[in-house]
Order: sequence, then C-alpha cells, then structure tokens
Amino acid sequence: MPPFRIVIVGGGIAGFTAAIALRGPNRQITVLEQSRLNKEIGALISLQPNASRIVETTWGLKKELKAAQEIVDEGFRVYNTDGVLVNSVPLKTKTEFGADRLCFHRRDLHDQFKKAATSPDREGEPVTVRVASRVVDCSPLDGTVTLEGGEVVTGDLIIAADGIHSVIRKHVLQEEPSPLPTGHSAYRLMIPSETLENEVPEFCSKINPREPFTSMMVAQNCRLIMGPGRQGEVYGITALVPDEQMNEDPGAKQSWVSEGDLNKMLQTFSEFPTWVTNVFKHSADLGLWQLRDLDPLKKWHRGRVITIGDAAHAMLPTQGQGASQAIEDAEALGAFFEGISEAPSVEALSEILENIFQARYARVSLIQAYSREAAKPAAAKKTVTLRPDEFMKFNCMYRGAKAWSNEQIPVSA
Ligand SMILES: Cc1cc2nc3c(=O)[nH]c(=O)nc-3n(C[C@H](O)[C@H](O)[C@H](O)COP(=O)(O)OP(=O)(O)OC[C@H]3O[C@@H](n4cnc5c(N)ncnc54)[C@H](O)[C@@H]3O)c2cc1C
Repeated sequence: MPPFRIVIVGGGIAGFTAAIALRGPNRQITVLEQSRLNKEIGALISLQPNASRIVETTWGLKKELKAAQEIVDEGFRVYNTDGVLVNSVPLKTKTEFGADRLCFHRRDLHDQFKKAATSPDREGEPVTVRVASRVVDCSPLDGTVTLEGGEVVTGDLIIAADGIHSVIRKHVLQEEPSPLPTGHSAYRLMIPSETLENEVPEFCSKINPREPFTSMMVAQNCRLIMGPGRQGEVYGITALVPDEQMNEDPGAKQSWVSEGDLNKMLQTFSEFPTWVTNVFKHSADLGLWQLRDLDPLKKWHRGRVITIGDAAHAMLPTQGQGASQAIEDAEALGAFFEGISEAPSVEALSEILENIFQARYARVSLIQAYSREAAKPAAAKKTVTLRPDEFMKFNCMYRGAKAWSNEQIPVSA
C-alpha cells in the first residue's frame, strides 16, 4: 500500500505538534520550514492547562516537557509602580482541572517538539524535516506546494502551519485577508536572573525573578507581563504599548525578529520608576513587534489543504493562547485522522477536514475575540462577556476536539 503522504508547511509549534499528533502506521510526514531553525529568539512561551494536558496525556510527552525545563506557574501577581503587591491570584488548575499552566523558554519547548516528531521511538516513521525550504505557491486541488527553487512537493494532505503571514491561506480562501493591526505593539526582553540580582537588586527585592509567578504592572496604558523561564535562570518581559504611545517607527515592525531601540523604549516607559526601567538595559536583545491578529476566517480548508495555528487564527498574546490553540488544532488532526493509514480520496478528505473545522472554529473564534478584548482599556465596551474565571474554566474543561464537538452546536461558515 503506498504511504499516506502528509506535507506540513512551517516548523513552528503548530507544525511540529501536528507532526507528533499525526505520526502513525504507513504515514510519511515531511515538514518544510523556510528558516534553518538555528536562531534563538529571546522569548518565553506558555502552555495553558488545555494544551499541557494534551501534550502530557494524549501524546505522553511529560519527560520532554521536563527536559524543556518547564516551570509550573503558581499564579498571577499584580504590582503597582511602587512595587507593592496589590493583587494575587493563585492558579489551582492542577487540583481543579488536572493540568498546570507551564512556562518555557520558547527555544527549549520548540526543540523538544522537534525531537519528539523526529524520534525513532514513537509510533510510525520519524518525520522528515527539510529546513531552508520556503514554500511560495500551493495548489490545493492538486495537493502540491512549490518551493522557492521551483521544486514541487506533493502530499495527500497538506497542512498550512506557516504562521500569521501564511502564503498558503489565500489559496484556501481564494482571497487575501490581511492580518489586522490591533493598536498595540510589544517589546520582548530576556535577562539572566543572575544579572538582575547583581545589577538591579532593587527590582529583585520587590519582584523575585526566580519565583514561579506571572507578574504584571500597568501605568499609562502600558503593561508589563513578566515571568521566569529555564527553572528561574532567565526572566522574560513582554512590554505592551498602545501604538499611539509608541516612539518607534510606526508600521515598520511586523516581524517576530525585528529589533527595538532601547532609548525609544525608555522614552515610552518614562512614567515607570527607574527600579523597573533599569531592568530594560540588561536584555541582550530587544525584540519589538506590532501585534496583529486575524478576524475569524470563512474557511480553513480546500481540496487537500487545511490551515492551522496562527495561519488560521492568529490572536493577541493577552491570554497566552497562541501556542495552546495551535496544539488543540494538532490534537484535532490526530483525533480525526486516527486509524487512517491509506491516502483518502479528496472527497473523503474534505469531509474529515470539515469535521475538524466544525469542531474547532467556534471555540478558537471565541478565544481570539477574548484575547482581542483583553487588550482594550478596562472601561471599553466588551462584546465577550466571560469573566476571567469563566474563561479559565472554558479553557480548562477542554478534553480534545472530538469530545468538544459532541457537546457543541455546529457552526455555519
Ligand atoms: C520567532 C517567533 C517568536 C514568537 N514570539 C511570541 C511571543 O513572544 N508571544 C506570543 O504570544 N507569541 C509568539 N509567537 C507566536 C506563537 O509562537 C504562535 O502563536 C504559536 O506558537 C502558534 O504558532 P504557529 O506554529 O502557528 O506559527 P509560528 O510560530 O509563526 O510558526 C510558523 C512557522 O512557519 C514557518 N514559515 C512561514 N512561512 C513559511 C513558508 N512560506 N515556507 C516554509 N515555512 C514557513 C516560519 O518560519 C515558522 O517556523 C512567536 C512566533 C515566532 C515564530
């Protein structure tokens, strides 16, 4: 029997977790990634309980999460600009819902997912990863993608996991939706905790960078979201700024790897006390990106292609759900293709892909909307009325795409 050929475009969190979920007998999986996967981005990433349960339990990757130096987040702490703790919300999702919120250095988590996808020890053939393989075109009905150099790669199933600026999405939708500026930009910093202890002791006397908490501070509509990574060895900061308060070049920073300017950042955060802003001077690099998201798309699949992850539903990082929703998509692929080891006809494939869309769409669209609203000022009019505790419950009750779709009402696109 010829193998069921699966081509995944994009070797990010969505791409590699889809590869993990889809490994199985008689399946030949190839990941095409445009980069060389060798650049370390100084950023933390979190798995919310809905995703950590899938990774640990459905895929059995507990050991890999440990190897990625997971930190179990014990709760949220809100400080005022004097460094006084004004609110503390403990996270008890493990006891209430059976899974933790986990924080990682992005590189460590990504490396472990890649390792699991390519490991000879899991079911099915190890996944083939082709780096420096940029896809420039796609024909959904033929099941082909074309690489920059002209090579055409054929798949029985093509998964577009190529991120917010997806090149494949327009071939699925037959129109080009643009990621929307959200009115916010974010700086991203990562500093060794030891450097903070030596160079900015005043900060550490108020906020211990090694403690497993997510800390927040707000002033002048600017928001700092901070937390530890690598077992407390590094401290990550995301600094959210409304675009109109931003002193950098508007519109220029759209990539995950754009550099910010420290002096301009200090100007923007001039309302923050020096015991905080002195921290900014110690980050080896200063990432800056304009936050964009997508309105829910009309469809996710066409012919032999389905979009997943940020390509299908890029969202703001305010709920830390970007990677977790990509993982839910990957689980859905695994569940709906379970037991299929022969390449399906295009009709049979369409039916499976539509079932995945139906199972995932309403839930992801709500999380997208909630993430968007959370970036608005507290007084702004909200269209999603879930309270934070209700939202947490909504996340944590998730038990996989099939169980979820059995409980939900189908959507009409
Ligand atoms: C470098 C980086 C830093 C990030 N930092 C943060 C952060 O600090 N906070 C946050 O909330 N979210 C961040 N994200 C987004 C977050 O990781 C995603 O929401 C989530 O992981 C879902 O990812 P994804 O795999 O769908 O997309 P992505 O993580 O964007 O991965 C897409 C992958 O596809 C590859 N690719 C793109 N186009 C092509 C092509 N034409 N051909 C072949 N390969 C292609 C890209 O190189 C990338 O590896 C970041 C993403 C990246 C790539």
